[in-house]
Amino acid sequence: MEQSVLVIGGGPAGLSAARTLGGLEVKTYLVEKAQKLGGRPILEDYHTLIPRKMKPSQVLGPFIEEVQSNPNVEVFLNTEVEEVSGSGGNFSVKLSNGKTLKVGAIVVATGFTHFDPKRKGELGFGIYPDVITNLQLEQMFSREGKLYRPSNGELPKRVAFVFCVGSRDRQLGVTNVHCCRYGCALSGLQAMEIRQKYPEVDVFCYYMDVRTYGTWEYPFYWEPQEKFGVRYVRGRIAEITYSPQDGRLRVKHEDTIVQRPAEIPMDLVVLVLGMEPSEGTKKVAKLLNLKQNPDSLFIEPADEVGDPTVSNVEGVFIAGACKGPIDIESSISDGRSAGVNAALYLRGAKVGA
Ligand SMILES: Cc1cc2nc3c(=O)[nH]c(=O)nc-3n(C[C@H](O)[C@H](O)[C@H](O)COP(=O)(O)OP(=O)(O)OC[C@H]3O[C@@H](n4cnc5c(N)ncnc54)[C@H](O)[C@@H]3O)c2cc1C
Repeated sequence: MEQSVLVIGGGPAGLSAARTLGGLEVKTYLVEKAQKLGGRPILEDYHTLIPRKMKPSQVLGPFIEEVQSNPNVEVFLNTEVEEVSGSGGNFSVKLSNGKTLKVGAIVVATGFTHFDPKRKGELGFGIYPDVITNLQLEQMFSREGKLYRPSNGELPKRVAFVFCVGSRDRQLGVTNVHCCRYGCALSGLQAMEIRQKYPEVDVFCYYMDVRTYGTWEYPFYWEPQEKFGVRYVRGRIAEITYSPQDGRLRVKHEDTIVQRPAEIPMDLVVLVLGMEPSEGTKKVAKLLNLKQNPDSLFIEPADEVGDPTVSNVEGVFIAGACKGPIDIESSISDGRSAGVNAALYLRGAKVGA
């Protein structure tokens, strides 16, 4: 049994796994294909995180520092896994930097990618500059510190959030029927941020139903409405168009509470994006023969094992958004659990089925 672990992916889940393993004094290799650690929240400059309203650097900075300073953890940036041979206890892994590693266990934490909103052509993304994604709104806040209409740089008078773009959508086929889990709560937070900074801007949230699950219900559903005057409209969006007469967008929808079609002028429309498995997740799943959901292609835990970080391949553990939509705190817990399982496995403990 090789006494070392490979962690693939340096996002919240992989960082947490590597930090746990390093803390347990297990020799750990952390391979990240991007040029820095932190996963999507750091690589893509998220602004403020649900649920604690902290900055990505506040949440993930300590993980990055610990992983980088722990002598048990060796980090490879700009690197991917090319080939894997052997089996649990004795894997041989070829990296894209030419190095070959011998490891006893592997933690897969290769994460997700965003739904491409161009696949929902009727929403006008890529056609009208004032239709943006919720990721672009995060970046507007974090990189530029202000809200504006990309078409003319002016402050919008009305902003609409459209929930569930690429989530819970059977029109896209079977691949995107899952809920993204973070979207309703993040939209509540972004809507409050807009109203707090620009009280003159009206904000509307168009939803199928609101899934601010668990303790997120009050701070990210009721508070936006009761304290910040955000308006929630239960409606299905039929189309987003542009009116050259007034230079504003038109959100055409059916209000499913009053059961009437409506068309509201908007200055900025924010599409709340769903999550899909990343290319890295799909590639690594194939390299390691991991079980994937046949429709979404997210990696699935082993059958009939109660532990969600145990995969169908002995010695391989799975954590975070490579398994489906998940929030950052749960990704961190998941990474820790996968790290502990990998360490137990090296010590000969029975992990899994
Ligand atoms: C717009 C948006 C805003 C969000 N805001 C919040 C929020 O406020 N709060 C919250 O809790 N959640 C939020 N989320 C969800 C959050 O992004 C995820 O929970 C989290 O990023 C999952 O962490 P992860 O480590 O599993 O995956 P990722 O963050 O995707 O990290 C995976 C890492 O693996 C690397 N990788 C991929 N393939 C390979 C490979 N083959 N080899 C090596 N490395 C590889 C990637 O480069 C990446 O660094 C948001 C999501 C979106 C889309």
